[in-house]
Amino acid sequence: MKTYRIATIPGDGIGKEVVPAGRQVLEALANKNKTFAFEFEDFDWGADYYRKNGVMMPEDGLDALRDKDAILFGSAGDPDVPDHITLWGLRLKICQGLDQYANVRPTRILPGIDAPLKRCTPEDLNWVIVRENSEGEYSGVGGRVHQGHPIEAATDVSILTRAGVERIMRFAFKLAQSRPRKLLTVITKSNAQRHAMVMWDEIALEISKEFPDVKWDKELVDASTARMINRPATLDTIVATNLHADILSDLAAALAGSLGIAPTANIDPERRYPSMFEPIHGSAFDIMGKGLANPVGTFWSVVMLLEHLGEVEAAKRVMQAIEAVTGDPSLHTGDLGGKATTAQVTAAVCALLDKVEAPAAKATT
Ligand code: ATP
Repeated sequence: MKTYRIATIPGDGIGKEVVPAGRQVLEALANKNKTFAFEFEDFDWGADYYRKNGVMMPEDGLDALRDKDAILFGSAGDPDVPDHITLWGLRLKICQGLDQYANVRPTRILPGIDAPLKRCTPEDLNWVIVRENSEGEYSGVGGRVHQGHPIEAATDVSILTRAGVERIMRFAFKLAQSRPRKLLTVITKSNAQRHAMVMWDEIALEISKEFPDVKWDKELVDASTARMINRPATLDTIVATNLHADILSDLAAALAGSLGIAPTANIDPERRYPSMFEPIHGSAFDIMGKGLANPVGTFWSVVMLLEHLGEVEAAKRVMQAIEAVTGDPSLHTGDLGGKATTAQVTAAVCALLDKVEAPAAKATT
């Protein structure tokens, strides 16, 4: 029997509630499935660790992750610790340290979810945003001089490399090719950013020649926000730089009904290192510790984790259980207008794993 080694990093805020919920679903799945098992190792990194140790994670923390098959992450963020410390000290350290250069963010309107676009059917909004996850605006290059003086100056330099753009474009074209519509939109801003983004456009054109069956177009990032709202059905797979995709995927999550539902995967496509799966929401300190967090974003991240491990049937089973839960308003958490708790939603998904498993079991006997 295959045993997968999973690192769990709850992090801060509601991450401490939704990651244990995700682990519960994986454990329930393994108990029912019997063809694979999980070996979990939990890491207490985050803002509490920072308060004790002055760092968000140990200097050699990446070494403890390298031999894992996957990482389930919660969130990083704390009202008392500056955001650039929580972000750079944990999530970005892992993503960049393990070269998880493709960040994949699917967006769909799940059954039973009241999404804000009233003229939009679930078929109209079925996107995957691919975010360049290793460089660009998040290169960390820049500095500050003359701090505290009137002549103070600061820079953040966005760096795009040919190798970095080629690999994310190839990943995005391949992903678009694997989806039924074979449609890719390349987000750009080459009208204003006339160096790196022009190279981005040129490389998109070069890589497109490797994928003649993929239809693709280019859209300015500002125009793409309006297109997401006015013509959602014209989009399918979307590729954008680190910052552009960060913004567009929050918009996408809101258009699909709630930040609490959306998942993401930080992937090393070459599989040299473990990939990391997380809900896209942050630490949500306003609802922390009350048992109110919607765990669905984490459960959908678990689906992506299982797909990445090659456990496609198990992934489908969890997705079906999630869709049954979102389809039942009595199991909606507060962000969806309901009264259900994290524990109730988790218990319902675990219980449903039995039911959605039943037809497959019958078919094999
Ligand atoms: P961070 O600074 O870590 O990004 P944040 O609190 O500023 O965190 P989010 O956590 O991303 O931002 O979300 C904003 C708000 O959306 C939260 O304050 C919370 O009310 C709501 N929210 C986000 N995620 C969930 C969830 N899983 N369940 C319920 N509500 C959520």
